[in-house]
Amino acid sequence: MSDHIHVGVDIGGTAIKVGICNGNGDLLQTYEGPTEADQGTERVLDNIAKYARHIVEESAASWDRVAGIGIGIAGFVDFDRGFIHSSANLPLLRNVPLKDHLEAALSKKVRVNNDANVAALGEAWGGAGRGVSSVVCYTLGTGVGGGIVVNGRLIEGATGMAGEVGHMSIVPDLEAIQCGCGKMGCLETVSSATGIIRMAKDAVDRGDRTSLSVLEQLTAKDVIDAAKNGDEVAQRIVSRAAHYLGKSMALVSVIVNPKRFIIGGGVSKAGEFLFSQIREAFQKCALERAQDGVDIVAAELGNNAGVVGAAGLTLQD
Ligand SMILES: [Zn+2]
Repeated sequence: MSDHIHVGVDIGGTAIKVGICNGNGDLLQTYEGPTEADQGTERVLDNIAKYARHIVEESAASWDRVAGIGIGIAGFVDFDRGFIHSSANLPLLRNVPLKDHLEAALSKKVRVNNDANVAALGEAWGGAGRGVSSVVCYTLGTGVGGGIVVNGRLIEGATGMAGEVGHMSIVPDLEAIQCGCGKMGCLETVSSATGIIRMAKDAVDRGDRTSLSVLEQLTAKDVIDAAKNGDEVAQRIVSRAAHYLGKSMALVSVIVNPKRFIIGGGVSKAGEFLFSQIREAFQKCALERAQDGVDIVAAELGNNAGVVGAAGLTLQD
């Protein structure tokens, strides 16, 4: 095995997390420092370089062993140029040539991708998809993110939109509502934490009899817990979220035919209660041969998926 180490950087709104992986996708070390986004773009770029150098120093490895630095960030990124058009978490970071800047500062190859793709690559390389040739990942959080990895390669598509599973228009027109992206009936409108909360609020506003009506600040976890405790209204909401997830996987299965679906993000903490319903919907909708031997499993890396996947970007070419 090569002696190289791979540095991954996960840029968040408040913290920048860096990690070192070996060539097998094992996470050896992590370090976290403040993003300091309010101090401007220059400061953020300096911090990324500083933390990357710091973690390598701390590991006692020489800088020569660094194969490259990969970066994951939420937002619109031109992957080839490593150029950040805009980032939802970091509004000040607009039109930044991140790759060019950091390659000059660190004298290493730098690769940049979006957070959903990076998380998928992390799970595929060093998490629940280890050793599996083709995986599709779903991240169920505020939105529904996704990524596709086939034979170790992240599928980006012509304009970088491949794997945007959350924006599959899947809810029938009569029941569809508008998604944050502007389109109608996206998976994200029913299967994200935001979607689950919205459906619960709608039910409460309609006057449906549910234990959720006494709660003030509804969370997706409240809805899932109520469903587990037998609240029928909450159960219908979770079933709906699971149904469209399973159905969307059936659609993905006739396009990509992955061996494994990996589900992460806050909502996935609902566990088997949710997963069994997703599998049921998948089996009902997917073509027999396309679901043969396919499994739907939980992500393993949690918040480290970002740094592992970012490190893995350095092996993409
Ligand atoms: Zn959408």
